[in-house]
Amino acid sequence: MAIPFSFTTSPGASIFDVFAEDSLRSSLKPAWNYLMKFATQKYPNYILKALKYSDEIYYVLLFVMEEYSLRNKSASMTEAFYELKRESTALPYSFMFRHAKMISLLSLVFIPYIQDKLEERYEISKEKILRGDLNVTDFDRFVNKWYPLFLTISKWLRMLNYMLYLFHYTGYQVPLLKLTSIQLKYKTNDADEGASQAKDERTFLRKMLTIPLDFVTSTITKMAPLLFYSLSFLETYYQQEPLSNKPGEGTIPPPQMPKVLSNSVRLPSSKKQCPLCHQPHQKPSTLPVSGFVFCHRCLHSYVQRHKCCPVTYRPCQVQNIIQLHTNASIN
Ligand SMILES: [Zn+2]
Repeated sequence: MAIPFSFTTSPGASIFDVFAEDSLRSSLKPAWNYLMKFATQKYPNYILKALKYSDEIYYVLLFVMEEYSLRNKSASMTEAFYELKRESTALPYSFMFRHAKMISLLSLVFIPYIQDKLEERYEISKEKILRGDLNVTDFDRFVNKWYPLFLTISKWLRMLNYMLYLFHYTGYQVPLLKLTSIQLKYKTNDADEGASQAKDERTFLRKMLTIPLDFVTSTITKMAPLLFYSLSFLETYYQQEPLSNKPGEGTIPPPQMPKVLSNSVRLPSSKKQCPLCHQPHQKPSTLPVSGFVFCHRCLHSYVQRHKCCPVTYRPCQVQNIIQLHTNASIN
C-alpha cells in the first residue's frame, strides 16, 4: 500500500507557486466574511444568529474539506489547486511521519483559528486600554503588549525562510512546514496511483458510507478555491458601493450594524429610546464611528468621560458628536 506523505524525488514547488498558493489561502477567510455579510443582508433573520459563530462554522467547514483533501491528495485544498502535494521528510514510522496528516490539519485549521481569536482579542484589548477601561485583565495587557511583536517576528521569519528557500539553503517553503517536517512538491502520477490503490483497499461497507460523502466533499473541494477567489474579487469590486446597490433591485439594504460589544451598554427595545438613559431621545445625537442614537446630553457626558462610543467602544471625541436634524421630530 502506498503511504500518503511518503518522500519521493519529485521536484520541490517553485517559490512563485508557493506565493500564489499562500495568497489564495489568505483570500479564503475574507471571502467567507464577505459571503456572511452578503447572506446577512439577504436573509437577516436566519443568518444573524449564526453570525456570532461565523468563525467556528468556517473552521469546521475548512476542517472537513482539508481532511478530505489531505486524505485523497496529500495536499491542502489550495495546494491541490496548484498541483502541489505534501511530503513528510520525517523518518518512516516516526511519530511525525505516521501523524503527518493530523499535524497538517492542526497547522492548516487549528493554528489559523487560534491566530484569528488572538487578533480579535488584541483589537478588543487595544480599545479597552485606549479608553482606560477598569476591566482590563492581565491577559488583555499581555496580548496587547506581545501580539504585535509575535506577528512581526513571524512575518520576518517567513520572509527569511522564503529567501533561504529561493537560494536552496532549505527545502521547506515556510517555517511551519519545517517544524512539521513537511515539504511541498509537485504532484506526480505515482502519487495518484497510490491514492487510488489506497482507496480500493477500503472495505465494502466503508466504501458505501464514504463514497457519497467523498463525492460531495470532492466537488466542494474542487469548486471552493475558485468560488472563494471570485468572491474576494467581487468584494474588491464592490468595496466602493454598498452591497446590492444596483438599479432595479428594489429597496437598498441598510449598511451593516456595527458590532455591539457584549459588555457594553444594553440596547433598548425601542428605536426611539436612548441606550444610556433608556428614555425617549432628547435632541437625538449620534457618532460617525457607530451610528447609534442617544440623547445629546447623555452622549456628551459619556464621550467626555470615556472617549468612545458607549455601544461599540470605538474611540471618538466630543467634537465628533453630530446632532440629528429631521423634518419630523423624533421625540
Ligand atoms: Zn439619554
